[in-house]
Amino acid sequence: MVDLLKCGTHGERETRFVCTHLFQNARSESPRSMRYFEPAHDEGEPTPAIWCEACETVILEQGEVNEAAADFASFHMVCDFCFQKYLDENTPDAAT
Ligand SMILES: [Zn+2]
Ligand SMILES: [Zn+2]
Repeated sequence: MVDLLKCGTHGERETRFVCTHLFQNARSESPRSMRYFEPAHDEGEPTPAIWCEACETVILEQGEVNEAAADFASFHMVCDFCFQKYLDENTPDAAT
């Protein structure tokens, strides 16, 4: 099952999630390349969400993406096209 959202730029697309820090960075005047982390997911499956280093620290402290971690990340929904831009403009964490 795939969640759809209506992107202002791309119309009806699949939903992805980015943490608010990556989201704000992409909207700042001079976005920088941030390290991003992603949840474990099946190979061949698209990455459902990404978050920044600060969020990763909280998630490690919490042990999972629980309410406190999700609160800190305050994920934004973006469409899969917009999401690809985040993947291109930021740097994946080296681990796997
Ligand atoms: Zn973050
Ligand atoms: Zn879009």
